[in-house]
Amino acid sequence: MHFEDWHTHNSLCRHAVGSIEDYIKIAIDRGLNVIGISDHFPYEYLSSEIPSLEDIPYEGYAMPTNNLESYILQLDNLSEKYKDQIHVRTAFEIDFFKHQDHLLNKYLNNYLTKLDYILGSVHVLFGKAGIFAFDDGRFLNKYKEYDVNDEIFIEFYTSLQTMIKSPTFKLDIVTHFDLPKKFDKRVEDKELVMEKAIETLELVKKRDLTVEINTSGLRKKVKEQYPSLDIIKIIYDLDIPILLGSDAHKPEEVAYEFKTMTKMLISNNFTQFAHFEKRKRTFIEID
Ligand SMILES: [Zn+2]
Ligand SMILES: [Zn+2]
Repeated sequence: MHFEDWHTHNSLCRHAVGSIEDYIKIAIDRGLNVIGISDHFPYEYLSSEIPSLEDIPYEGYAMPTNNLESYILQLDNLSEKYKDQIHVRTAFEIDFFKHQDHLLNKYLNNYLTKLDYILGSVHVLFGKAGIFAFDDGRFLNKYKEYDVNDEIFIEFYTSLQTMIKSPTFKLDIVTHFDLPKKFDKRVEDKELVMEKAIETLELVKKRDLTVEINTSGLRKKVKEQYPSLDIIKIIYDLDIPILLGSDAHKPEEVAYEFKTMTKMLISNNFTQFAHFEKRKRTFIEID
């Protein structure tokens, strides 16, 4: 089948390598039907409202605000240039911050008509250890401020739930659904954390969102896709749409392990992947 990769980054976010065009070209080489360009939306709009944001190196997490215009323009040009070879889709991965939707939307609304979809993500926690990007390896010492990893997972799911329930936060796809496991941080009370994950999935279902099966975990210490197979089975039971994302931060990571993952999903009875254009969802058959 012709794969579709809905989650990629590029050098604009200042922690990925390769130009947007590099990602498009490799996707064409690999025979993809869709390459979703979904770079990190700027954090700068937050900085005046959340003073403690200065403690995290957010300048390295996303593109600067003054690149937004050229990002969209480049995508306009490149999708036209390559339209006979691949569908290039325009997107953002946007971090959720409580009570900040009004600020975010001031910037985001200018580009909404250009977007094919929005990835909604939580990478930063405001909890027991203060404000911290739990998936940034430079802050692993913060994990020690928690008694058990379970607490980080609970904080994460609480934040995801607030995101999903926030009517003013625009999103189509929920990303890396069990990201706190990235550094192989396993939980003690599995049942408790699973309950919280299921509660979150029920909200996903209620808002009719899509969940991403993200293969980048396979490249990380945990050596497992996000989310785990246990969660994937619940996604199936709740009949929540899914699609694949590599979360590529290097061109060669485009469609990373998509064959293996698709096989796994087929053996767990999935028959369709979601597909987006101008924020409208349709489906393609998995074959
Ligand atoms: Zn990134
Ligand atoms: Zn992410």
